[in-house]
Amino acid sequence: MRFLLILLLVLAVIALARILRRGNSQGPQDRQSSRQAVSDMVSCGHCGVHLVRSDAIETTPGKYRCPEHQDR
Ligand SMILES: [Zn+2]
Repeated sequence: MRFLLILLLVLAVIALARILRRGNSQGPQDRQSSRQAVSDMVSCGHCGVHLVRSDAIETTPGKYRCPEHQDR
């Protein structure tokens, strides 16, 4: 009976270590994707509001406008 308890404890530790390792490997990926999101922020040349590049309208290369000011 005691052996079974130790076996269960060992299995629990292995499972916990696996979860922790998975959490660690996910961490840098999350940081990388959030850093990428920050670098994809652009500011409107008219009002200066910051928006995601995919939502912004590129009027001239490197210059962006928010949808409200795209034709000003
Ligand atoms: Zn604007």
